[in-house]
Amino acid sequence: MGKMDAKIKRQKGVLMPHVVNGNSLADSILEKAKGQIASFSRPPCLAIVMVGNNPASQVYVRRKEEACKKVGIKTKNIHLPSSATEGEVMEQILALNSDSSVDAILVQLPLPPHIDEERVLCQISPKKDVDGFHPENFGRAALGTGQLLPCTPKGVLHILKESKIGLAGKHAVIVGRSRIVGKPLAFLLLNEDCTVTICHSKTKNLKEVARQADILCVAVGKPRTITAEMVKEGAAVIDIGINREGEKLVGDVDFEGVKGKASIITPVPGGVGPMTVAMLIENTLLCYKLQGGK
Ligand code: NDP
Repeated sequence: MGKMDAKIKRQKGVLMPHVVNGNSLADSILEKAKGQIASFSRPPCLAIVMVGNNPASQVYVRRKEEACKKVGIKTKNIHLPSSATEGEVMEQILALNSDSSVDAILVQLPLPPHIDEERVLCQISPKKDVDGFHPENFGRAALGTGQLLPCTPKGVLHILKESKIGLAGKHAVIVGRSRIVGKPLAFLLLNEDCTVTICHSKTKNLKEVARQADILCVAVGKPRTITAEMVKEGAAVIDIGINREGEKLVGDVDFEGVKGKASIITPVPGGVGPMTVAMLIENTLLCYKLQGGK
């Protein structure tokens, strides 16, 4: 760690390592979940619906299955061909909704373009909606009364809370307004009393807005969207992006350039990604309880 980093750490009283170790944070959540599941009357069951063979989705599904196995959650895989119709996907969801052996349902996104994702997500029973994407859960998350919060924003919030930087009154700038990351994250941070600004592709002067952030969260899907001159000294920088560059995975933030300015920063890989999976495990346990599981 450079001299300046150490100074930032002292000034902010940050207890977390400067470069957030998402793997170790996630491991402690998985350990806790494993302990809870050991006392359950039966193992929780997560159904994973995947349509087609998107290679990135296959990797994500494998990671989720591995985490489930580690903690003692059963998985039920429904793999449909990319030619499956929307009606066929809906049928599967309805069957899983009424299957009492299934506690939680995850539909791996993206779905093939001929299937309306919104309609499919609305079909999942809100109490089995492990990703928190159903409008009922989304609405509750916005109101601050939700239990099933979307996994990635929930993981980001967990990282920020663990970092002890304090959220109330902080200016959080979120770059990206997607349904699964940017928008719900804005609500979660607003409900933590942050002052929230949301940026998107039509935002003018992204640099000027980003520079005002005490907390800068980036979910765009383009490498180096955020460079050092766009970051205020001492800001907490949360990089949610996952981009493939050749053999390497990189985020949306120019990590090497920004890390000297940030009070905390999440690496890619090894930052928000593992926390998303850990939150999926937490949400599966919540779904189990919502099904009446003891
Ligand atoms: P989307 O493509 O759905 O949304 C991207 C957002 O970025 C949009 O709101 C878009 O604006 C905005 N945007 C695009 N270009 C710019 C720009 N130049 N300046 C400012 N805003 C811009 O992506 P997702 O939210 O689904 O994912 C974002 C990234 O996060 C991806 O890399 C994805 O892989 C990753 N991700 C990581 C997860 C994890 O677990 N770590 C989980 C989910 C996603 P507009 O709305 O105007 O089009």
